[in-house]
Amino acid sequence: MAKYSIKTFGCQANIADSNSISGVLEALGYEELILPKFDTETEEFSFILNNADLFIVNTCSVRQKSEDKVYGMGKVIKMVKDETGKKPFMVLAGCMVGSVTGERQRWEFEKLHKKTPWVDLFINPHQIFELPVILQKQGVLNEAALAKFDPKNVNAKLDSPLHAFVNISYGCDNFCTYCVVPYARGKEISRGEEEILKEIKHRIGQGVKQITLCGQNVNSWGLGTTEKFEIRSGSDQKLPFADLLRKIHDIPELEKISFLSSNPFDFTQDLVDAVSLPKISNYIHIAIQSGNNEVLKRMNRRHTVEDFVAIVEKLKKVKPDLEIGTDIIVGFPGETREQFMDTVELFKKVYFAVAYIAMYSPRKGTPAEKFFTDDVSRDEKKYRHAYLTKFWKGLKKK
Ligand code: SF4
Repeated sequence: MAKYSIKTFGCQANIADSNSISGVLEALGYEELILPKFDTETEEFSFILNNADLFIVNTCSVRQKSEDKVYGMGKVIKMVKDETGKKPFMVLAGCMVGSVTGERQRWEFEKLHKKTPWVDLFINPHQIFELPVILQKQGVLNEAALAKFDPKNVNAKLDSPLHAFVNISYGCDNFCTYCVVPYARGKEISRGEEEILKEIKHRIGQGVKQITLCGQNVNSWGLGTTEKFEIRSGSDQKLPFADLLRKIHDIPELEKISFLSSNPFDFTQDLVDAVSLPKISNYIHIAIQSGNNEVLKRMNRRHTVEDFVAIVEKLKKVKPDLEIGTDIIVGFPGETREQFMDTVELFKKVYFAVAYIAMYSPRKGTPAEKFFTDDVSRDEKKYRHAYLTKFWKGLKKK
């Protein structure tokens, strides 16, 4: 049996996509290459390159570091090829490819192609279910294997026997100024309710008891493009997503429901009420990004610090043991030391069980890269990162 391996960089959306790719490949008769434990990523890559027939690298574009790791793979590929003469069929998938293809192209495909000459095939996040046809056209798959392929037999891989990620929407229309997602994953598209419920029931049939609903902004699931921008944080407006949560909650076999990502700009009372349901997870991740309203404005976040704090207070009222997680960017263009200290102040007000703190780095083709100067020095960013991390960890110990 031909062996495949997938290396996944980035967020839960990519993990969910990689699980779907596994499902497609296994329905085509591929078998996953079992990886032993490795001390370094280079060792892992060489093992895969030596033993897999098909190697898919599912990329992330959020940070330059993950893109650089992908470019760096070229050296290992050359080394293995020089030593053994072998190279699996290499597929580059995910956000790096999404960023150079599709209607919201952030930079040129040719540039990516030049930097990754070892890639045999590029697929963007919307092409996962087209993979069988594409592989056949590339000569990797024969006509007979393609003819046997039935999308109904695709079972996305499970991360654990009891838990499954279920994508409810793809893409994003929010255009936060630092973010690559609206380009890399394209226009926000919600999956239909029936399709989502069907997938969840199918997963339950496989023994799943816990699910995580995934989307770049799950709150706006099921809303039209104009409607979603009319939703105001903390308002009484009804959200289709809150209704979806209630329907999923009614499925008796399910024990726990989580969701991500959720943002503060459209977290209404309706959603707060849905969170109070007993099977909804006691952990919610809501990205705030900064504790200063001026910085939030420059980030094109449609919420204030006060909106965020009010949501947290409401959530704590309906679910007192709820834990909150968040994402923070320090050193965004124009962020002064005082504005950064507002983020520290926010950490005093709201206790975060989880905080992903990142130093800003400009991403090519985003509004922040095009229109703002990356004027906070690397040393200052490092200082703010270390300061906030130490402060937050100090709070955790208390
Ligand atoms: S909501 Fe903002 S940060 Fe989140 S994916 Fe969309 S553009 Fe990026």
